[in-house]
Amino acid sequence: MSEKRKYKKRYCKYCEAKVDFIDYKDVANLRFSLSERYKIMPRRLTGNCKRHQDMISTVIKRARAAALVPYTVTRKAVVTNPFENLK
Ligand SMILES: [Zn+2]
Repeated sequence: MSEKRKYKKRYCKYCEAKVDFIDYKDVANLRFSLSERYKIMPRRLTGNCKRHQDMISTVIKRARAAALVPYTVTRKAVVTNPFENLK
């Protein structure tokens, strides 16, 4: 996977899609704002605006509490696609 290509454009894709509400259960969507180790991507990489970044961070923290997104990933789990076991 080419990880670097994903964050090339600097617009907020949530503004582009006119998103007003982000569902914490929509993990596939949240994945865009998470790094390989499930850390929340900084705004300078995703290009999100402040408003949506705040929304995302809230939602991701909520998803973590609901065990939809892991808090941390061990080194071994990082190698392939860690999301496979969620499908
Ligand atoms: Zn936005």
